[in-house]
Amino acid sequence: MRRMRRVKILATLGPASQDERTIARLFEAGADVFRINMSHTPRESVRERVATIRRVEQRFGRPVGILADLQGPKIRVGEFAEGSARLAEGAAFTLDSDETPGTATRVRLPHPEILAALRPGHALLVDDGRIRLVVEEAGDGFARTRVVVGGTISNRKGASFPDTTIPVSALTAKDRADLEAVVDAGVDWVALSFVQRPEDIAEVRKVTRGRAFVMAKIEKPQAVSRLDEIIEAADGLMVARGDLGVEMPLERVPGLQKRITRAARRLGKPVVVATQMLESMITAPVPTRAEVSDVATAVFEGADAVMLSAESASGQHPVEAVATMNRIAEEVEADPVYRTIITAQRAEPEPTGADAIAAAARSVAETLDLKAIIAWSFSGSTALRIARERPQTPVLAMTPSVGVARRLCLVWGIHAITTEDLRDVDDMAERSCSFAREAEYAGTGQRIIIVAGVPFGTPGATNMLRLAYVRD
Ligand code: PGA
Ligand code: MN
Repeated sequence: MRRMRRVKILATLGPASQDERTIARLFEAGADVFRINMSHTPRESVRERVATIRRVEQRFGRPVGILADLQGPKIRVGEFAEGSARLAEGAAFTLDSDETPGTATRVRLPHPEILAALRPGHALLVDDGRIRLVVEEAGDGFARTRVVVGGTISNRKGASFPDTTIPVSALTAKDRADLEAVVDAGVDWVALSFVQRPEDIAEVRKVTRGRAFVMAKIEKPQAVSRLDEIIEAADGLMVARGDLGVEMPLERVPGLQKRITRAARRLGKPVVVATQMLESMITAPVPTRAEVSDVATAVFEGADAVMLSAESASGQHPVEAVATMNRIAEEVEADPVYRTIITAQRAEPEPTGADAIAAAARSVAETLDLKAIIAWSFSGSTALRIARERPQTPVLAMTPSVGVARRLCLVWGIHAITTEDLRDVDDMAERSCSFAREAEYAGTGQRIIIVAGVPFGTPGATNMLRLAYVRD
């Protein structure tokens, strides 16, 4: 089964989609990777969820990626005596550590480390930015604020602090327990929310220890200001536009999306564009023009994947949402303008053997109109460097590790296949040709190019290019 597009589709599972039949239909409609959102999934059900996806994978005989998304330090205000309170513009409102239920003049903020980090002038956004407060005085265990934009504040509403670097790890106690559980359950990618520093990623790696790839969700200004370091530290990125649009002015999000996507492409790390991509399809069977344009923009930018959130997790049309994304992606990639945009954004190869070979493979394949680039990739890194070239020629990644094949499901243009290690050069040519034929990329008499490293099975030894004819 081959996809007719390079960009991948990441579909969030939830009450509308977590049964085996729906997951299979989502896969058939085009979902390449499934997201398990730990903000809404009980830890005890992760194992079962993973098993269900693996049954679908088995049935279709193709690797399927699973990404577990950790909630991260989502901060919430305390509770109110009457469940809520009205904050009028211009009024004073205090956040403190007092456990007494809140009123229209104060409420508890059950995070002492944040109270300690707040400074006069820092903004505080409550309820997805609907209410805006500014700190006027920060003292021991309290912060007195002025209401800039008022509204009704209610129990345990989410709060964000765009100006405050929060001096805690991005992993809460819940995240740590979730992380252990999802890695044990065998997910392929772990995403961390509200990353602020490269150290946050290092923290996750201590637990994953190579068992899963780690994705940094870029949704805080602090992460934007240390973008390159965070990209270096992570295996992939998400442009998490939902929270990014709360923490930063909404009109900055499109520019940031471009910046983050380009930086990730330059460094050769997969990047996902997420949130509200087909939002109206939560209830409607067709998207709006603006949503179609939004998905198309991400595809034109050369993002590795586009994501569905509530559209596939809890909406009324999960399968149609995936099918719609699939159609948009196929159409955009067939547009003559697509190639010129993708090529214009291509980064120069870095001065390494792997990059020189990746660039050469692309160039030879495009010059000779070859049907596929076959990359024998032990750890997946050769395949990632070839994907970084965004070649016009399809890429098949051959790996002995099913885990690597599943991780590569998120990567632009990679069709991953699990197979035993190579014996010798003849074996390499023969098996490359037969995989290209079986996967319907090349027919008799057509040519492919093979990228490998000798001695076989040594990671990081990519040093060979070879042309081969597909025979009967
Ligand atoms: P979330 O992350 O859906 O877990 O909040 C994505 C986003 O913020 O855009
Ligand atoms: Mn988020």
